[in-house]
Amino acid sequence: MVLPGFSLKKLPIKSFSPSKALGAEISQDPFDLLAPVLRAFSFHHPKDELGPIERAWQIAKEKHEGQFRASGEPYISHPLGVAQILADLGSDRQVVMAGLLHDTVEDTDYSLEECRRDFGETASLVEGVTKLSLITKELSNAETIRKLILAMQQDVRVGVVKLADRLYNARTWRFMPPQKAAKKAGETLDIYVPLADRLGMGMVKSELEELSFKYLDPRIYKKVVEMVGARAGVRDEYLKNMMEEVKMALKSYGIKAVITGRLKSYFSIYRKIVLLKKNFDRIYDFVGIRVLVDSPQDCYRALGIIHEKWLPVPGRFKDYIAMPKSNFYQSLHTTILGDGGQEIEIQIRTKEMHREDEYGIAAHWKYKEEEDFRSPEWVGRMANWVKDLQDPSEILPALKSDLTSEEISTFTPKGKTIFLPEGACPLDFAYAVHTEIGNRAVGAKINGIPSSLSSKLKSGDCVEILTAPPETSGPSYEWLSLVVTPKAKNKIKRFLSKEKNLEIAREGKKTLLAYLLEHKVPFSTPALAQASYLLGFHTLEQLYCAVRSGKVTCCDVSKATLGSKIGGEGSESEKYCVTVKGVKKEERIDLAKCCKPVPGDLIAGFVTNCRGVRIHSTRCPEFIKLSEESPEKIVDAQWKGERGEFEAEIEVLAIDRQALLVDLSVAISNACIDLSSSRQKVEANLVSAYFSFKFKDCSQLDLVIKSLEQVEGVIEVKRVGG
Ligand code: MN
Repeated sequence: MVLPGFSLKKLPIKSFSPSKALGAEISQDPFDLLAPVLRAFSFHHPKDELGPIERAWQIAKEKHEGQFRASGEPYISHPLGVAQILADLGSDRQVVMAGLLHDTVEDTDYSLEECRRDFGETASLVEGVTKLSLITKELSNAETIRKLILAMQQDVRVGVVKLADRLYNARTWRFMPPQKAAKKAGETLDIYVPLADRLGMGMVKSELEELSFKYLDPRIYKKVVEMVGARAGVRDEYLKNMMEEVKMALKSYGIKAVITGRLKSYFSIYRKIVLLKKNFDRIYDFVGIRVLVDSPQDCYRALGIIHEKWLPVPGRFKDYIAMPKSNFYQSLHTTILGDGGQEIEIQIRTKEMHREDEYGIAAHWKYKEEEDFRSPEWVGRMANWVKDLQDPSEILPALKSDLTSEEISTFTPKGKTIFLPEGACPLDFAYAVHTEIGNRAVGAKINGIPSSLSSKLKSGDCVEILTAPPETSGPSYEWLSLVVTPKAKNKIKRFLSKEKNLEIAREGKKTLLAYLLEHKVPFSTPALAQASYLLGFHTLEQLYCAVRSGKVTCCDVSKATLGSKIGGEGSESEKYCVTVKGVKKEERIDLAKCCKPVPGDLIAGFVTNCRGVRIHSTRCPEFIKLSEESPEKIVDAQWKGERGEFEAEIEVLAIDRQALLVDLSVAISNACIDLSSSRQKVEANLVSAYFSFKFKDCSQLDLVIKSLEQVEGVIEVKRVGG
C-alpha cells in the first residue's frame, strides 16, 4: 500500500495496491489476451524471444477450451493470470510458459510426453507442479509441504509457480463457500506465506497474508479495517508532516531520496494487536516511512541524520544491510520518537534492495548473469531433515517454527554466518555447524565469555563451542528440551536411540560371556563373529542384542561357537609375527591392505582362493562382508610377538584454524614416526586430515594418537579401518 508521492519511473517497482497488484493488468483487446503478459516479460527480458510463450498460450487455450472456473469465467483466465503474475515478477521464459501450461497435464487430455515434445525442458516444471497438486489433494498440510520442499530442491522454480497459482486462486476465494475458503486460507498462512517470505517474495507474501486473514476470520478483518479507517484522517495528516520533515532534513545534507509513507497491512496490525497485545489507540504504530536512496553509504548517512534530529527508540534499530536475512533481505530499520512523542518506524534502503524485497528470488534470476536455479540454502537444509524425519506428525510444527520464527544471525569464530531461529541456544548452533560438534559439546563461549549451552543467543553473537572426547561428552534427554531447531532435535534423538542399542548390546554380551565361561566353552572374538554369521546376524552387536532380548539363547550361540571351524593346528608367519590356527604350515600369510591390522588389534584370518591367508582386523568392513559371504573360510589368528614393520592411516577431525596443519605435523614428529603420506579435506569449518605412517609397534601408534589429541581444536583421532 503506497501513499501518493511515490514515483520511480526507471524501476519496475510495484507495490501492493489494488491498481498495481501483481498480474492485475488485463488486455483491452479480446483477441489478444496475451499482450500484457508479453509486455511484462519483455520489460524484464528485453532480448528474449516471445515465440515459445505464444506457442504455450495457443496450446493452453486449445486444451482448456470449454472448461470454466467456479466464477463462471473461461478456465483459461486462470493460467493466463498466473502467467501474468510470473511475468510481472520478472520470471524467466520457462517459468512464464509453465504458468500458462501448469494445469494442462492435470486437467486436460494433454500428456506430459506431448508437453515434453512441444516444449522440452519447460515440461519438467509443469511436471513438478502437476505432481504436487495430484499428490497433495489427499494429503495433510505436513505432507504437502514436505513434497513441496523436496520438489523445490530439484528446481526451486516449482515453488515460484506454485505460489503464483495460489495467489491467483486466493483472489478468487470469494466464489467459494466460506468454510472451504477459510480452510484454504489457513493452509496458505501455514505453508505458502512462510514460503514466499523465505523466497524473499515480499509482494506475494503480503497479498497472500491479507487475503488469508480476510477469509480465515472475516469478522475480525472487518473490524480491523473499520478501526484503521476511522483513524485515517489524523494519521495521514501526521504521516504527511513527518515525511516532509524527513525529506527536508535529508535534503539539507544533500542526500537524494525518495520518501514514501507506508500503511502497514491489516494483517500486521492484527498481529500486533492480538499477538503483541498492543493498544489499538497507538495508531501511529500502523504507519511507517520508507526512505529509498542511491547507495548503501547514503543509507547510513540518512540514518545518522535522522537519529540526530529525532530520538531513536532503544532496541529497535536493526542493521540488515551489514547482516542480511537469509532470504537476502537488506534494509536499515529504526523507530524514532517523532513530533509529539509518537513512535514511527523508518526503513532505509537502496532502490536495488527495495526491488529485491518486492520481487525476491525472481529478481535474482534476472539480474545475476548465471542461470542458477539451485535452491537457496534453507531449501536444501530443510529438505535434508524433512527426508529423514521419521514421525510425520512432527513436520508441520517444526517447519512452521523454522519458517516463521524471526531469524538471528550468529557467527563462528572464523566469521561464518550461522542463521538460527530466535530462541536458539549454543547447542542449536553446534548442531548447525556439524553433528559431531553438537554431540561433543560441553560448553560454549559467547563473544568470548564462557556461557552455558542453554543460554539464549542474540543476533550478532560470536559463538565458540567447547568440545570434549566422546567418553566425556554426549547428548542427554535434557538437551531435547533446550534446543529449538529441528535439526538439533533430530540428531539428539538419533544419538540417544543409538546409545540405547549399545547399552542393550553391552548387557547381552555380559550375559553371553558369563554363560560361555560357566559352561567352559572356549571362545574368541572371531569364533563368536563366525557363530553370529551362522545364526544369521550381520554384526556381533546384533547377536548381543538378540541374546539380551531372548531372540536367541546362550545355548544356541554356544553350539554355534563350538561348531565353528576355528581351532586345531596352526601356521605362523615369521614376517608378520602372526599365528594362524587351522591352516597348513606352509600357507602364505599376508596382512590385508584394506584395514592394515597392527599388533594389539583383534584379528582373524580369511582363507583366500589362491593367495594363502589374509589377516584382517575383526572390525574391518571388508572382512565382515567376506565372512558373511563365506563364513567357512574364517580362521582364528593371533599376534605372536611385536616385531616387523606396519603401516597405518590415522584420521584427525579438527575445527579449522590458522596453523592447524603445522601443529599437527609437529605433534607427529614429536612421536618419532615416519610420515609416508598425508591428505586433507575441509568441510564447513571442519578439517579431516589423513596421515599414513610406517611404524614398528603399537606403542608408537598410541603415542602419535595421544600426541595428536593434544593439539588445540582436535575433536577426534582415529585409525582408518582400525
Ligand atoms: Mn492452477
